[in-house]
Amino acid sequence: MISYFISQYKKVVPLLSLMMACCFLLVPSISFAQDNVVLQLKWKHAFQFAGYYAAQELGYYDDVGLDVDIRAASPGVDPVEEVLKGKAQYGIGNSALLLDRQNGKPVVVLSVVFQHSPAILITKGDGRISSVKDFVGKRVMIEPNSLELLTYLKKEGIPPEKIQIIDHSYDVNDLIQGDIDALSAYSSNEPYLLNQKGYFFKEFTPRGAGIDFYGDNLFTMEDEIRNHPDRVEAFRTASMKGWVYAMENTDEMIELILKKYGEGLERKQLLFESQTMNNLLVNNLIEVGHMNPARWRRIVNAYKSLDLIHKENILEGFIYTPPIGLMDIIRANYTVLLKYLVGSFLLIVFFIYRHHQLHLFNRKLERIAEVDQLTGIYNRKRLDETLGREVERFSRYSRSFSVILVDIDKFKDVNDTYGHQVGDEVLIQVVEILSDRVRTTDTLGRWGGEEFLLICPETEIDAAVQLAEEMRRAVEVQSFATAGHQTISFGVATCGEGDKANDVVKRADDALYQAKNSGRNRGIASVHNTSK
Ligand code: GH3
Ligand code: MG
Ligand code: MG
Repeated sequence: MISYFISQYKKVVPLLSLMMACCFLLVPSISFAQDNVVLQLKWKHAFQFAGYYAAQELGYYDDVGLDVDIRAASPGVDPVEEVLKGKAQYGIGNSALLLDRQNGKPVVVLSVVFQHSPAILITKGDGRISSVKDFVGKRVMIEPNSLELLTYLKKEGIPPEKIQIIDHSYDVNDLIQGDIDALSAYSSNEPYLLNQKGYFFKEFTPRGAGIDFYGDNLFTMEDEIRNHPDRVEAFRTASMKGWVYAMENTDEMIELILKKYGEGLERKQLLFESQTMNNLLVNNLIEVGHMNPARWRRIVNAYKSLDLIHKENILEGFIYTPPIGLMDIIRANYTVLLKYLVGSFLLIVFFIYRHHQLHLFNRKLERIAEVDQLTGIYNRKRLDETLGREVERFSRYSRSFSVILVDIDKFKDVNDTYGHQVGDEVLIQVVEILSDRVRTTDTLGRWGGEEFLLICPETEIDAAVQLAEEMRRAVEVQSFATAGHQTISFGVATCGEGDKANDVVKRADDALYQAKNSGRNRGIASVHNTSK
């Protein structure tokens, strides 16, 4: 019995395991044709772009069917030009993108990452420039696009013509050596470099004068939105998801940047950058990527004050509006949805298969529970159930039935003479002879040892005796392989009024006893008084 369980289990388990493995391996690895896109950064690799690295590393881009190449910039590379020429599809810019728009470039800002610009002015800490007024006539190294700094100076009464603007060398040593008086810088970068050199300096931040521009943001061109709206939304959402992760896991991101992008970078520098960025992103208060049109309008007005923008409605088409319809969302996430649908389908198939297997397994168990292992006919348990049902049928519908109790004569001698195995073979062969004569409506089972019970529904005693007689003769003429000729005896009884199952079998057993006593190889029918 136990070995049967094990053999069934062995058959089912490998199949189930295979199905499970398919489901779990296939779902995450289903890959659809990936769309190749390039993201052009505005500077060399730094924590400043951590969100995009996170989206790449954690597979957020992959999940939406994008294969993203994140490209660092070097001095002279303008992300707007790269995207305009089609060398990249997305870029990182700052508020000066408004000027590109003013110049007829169809730039669209997708998301603002830095809620505040990191742009600051740094001067020597020697007191020669103690307030903004002192910038007059000074040599100031200003990065292109740091227009919020010029706006700031102008607001403080210093228009660009009152300072000496020098091209940026991106080298803080120029300040240290005294070649210049001030430089434009990122609050997340140059202060660290100067501190490292033990240099004493002073910072001027436009926010102090109420000039609060957006910092780094993600942009693309109108064409991309027109031709690939799904890709735009997918890229934008995955990137912002990356930013949320990056700012919640800064230590992990620092390790990733050092490992994958960190040529020439130091852990301490990245740590400083990530801490400064916390204040610039304000991600604890504002959803990453959020843009406020009113804030853009204030930035436009600041540019207007510098006479840099004169185009009316410049913001029209500049601020991206994410899709809001259900179909848009489905389209933007269709690869993810498809993966889940395929995954769910496989799981359903697996469960249906498993259910079917269990059903078959249960059917086999049920059969095992009612079959005699040696002879393959029903066992005592099943005989008892059938007897119970037949007695019930008789009491309800007066449908009588007969039982034949068969016993092999002197069977002990077979065992004693030829051994138990030969005895088993005789048992099996006798069962074959009996089974050949049993009708489909009859139930043949092993009552115990070398005794068999045949339950014959709708059968009068004479017919039962006739059937038993045929069986007896068939055994008598059979020559068993080792044991030679054997005989059987039987007792027959019919269910009568008021009988319980035991009563019928008991009468058949008594009749069998008489048959044995009168010389064996014969049958006796019990004469039952139904009016008892
Ligand atoms: P009788 O004609 O009076 O029925 O004599 P008998 O020898 O057939 O009856 P008895 O009850 O003395 O012996 C029955 C024997 O059947 C004893 C037992 O060892 C044997 N037997 C019972 N079950 C099995 C079995 O599964 N295999 C084998 N080989 N022998 C069995
Ligand atoms: Mg017996
Ligand atoms: Mg016997």
